[in-house]
Amino acid sequence: MNVDLRLVDNPLGRIMKPISLTQRFSFACNSTVSCFNQCCRDLNQFLTPYDVFRLKRRVGLTSSQFLESYTVRHQGPQTGFPVVTFKLNPADSMRCPFVHADGCGVYEDRPSSCRTYPLVRLASRSRETGKISESYFLIQEEHCQGFDEMQDQTVEEWIENQGIDVYNRMNDLLLELISLKNRLLPDPFDGDTTQLIHAALYDLDRFRSRIASGELSVSKGNIDELDDVGLLKLSIRWVGDLMSELSNQHL
Ligand code: SF4
Ligand code: SF4
Repeated sequence: MNVDLRLVDNPLGRIMKPISLTQRFSFACNSTVSCFNQCCRDLNQFLTPYDVFRLKRRVGLTSSQFLESYTVRHQGPQTGFPVVTFKLNPADSMRCPFVHADGCGVYEDRPSSCRTYPLVRLASRSRETGKISESYFLIQEEHCQGFDEMQDQTVEEWIENQGIDVYNRMNDLLLELISLKNRLLPDPFDGDTTQLIHAALYDLDRFRSRIASGELSVSKGNIDELDDVGLLKLSIRWVGDLMSELSNQHL
């Protein structure tokens, strides 16, 4: 089946086309393309809590050290949620801190948006049923030579080959929080709440130690036996409970 050629958006030479899971597209990225590494600078990409977990584990830092060394904190423009991006060096062409001459230095644990490119996934959650719907778009940028490579695949095959599924499942857990935020607390968070949520979602090692010390109130269960993915799921639930509590206080 051919790609639907409806033009969705075209800022700065970028074309985004809707594409279904079973549609095929021709693309490959490797060190022989003339644009190699060009897309790893001037980034405008958010890192999800799961991205941060994978990256901090990859580089062998604690989550606090990783956030301090490699990220900048922002507030989501529509959700008001704390989000993080890579810390880019303006003196070094705004390059990703992990790009090297021979490619991505954290390839096996690269963030979800890097894995998914040249696709973009848009996901939404039904408030009534809780069901997640997703759609994909193919991004074609003028500088990207990957579309001239003769490697043909469906979107489904790309998702599998790039190891995207686990990222999607973990990132989808955030949709529940965002939906809860929009429903219960539409106004921006205050500074203390933003700090608490940032720490819980991104600074996982600190979240663990704060629970262990009793500083944070969580029904701990066997927290020592929770791996980091289990802990991240717990932190997402904890943020949901925090928002419900804040909403009740406003009633
Ligand atoms: S994490 Fe890797 S793939 Fe992603 S922008 Fe950085 S160097 Fe490029
Ligand atoms: S082919 Fe595209 S994805 Fe690969 S390095 Fe070039 S610009 Fe980046």
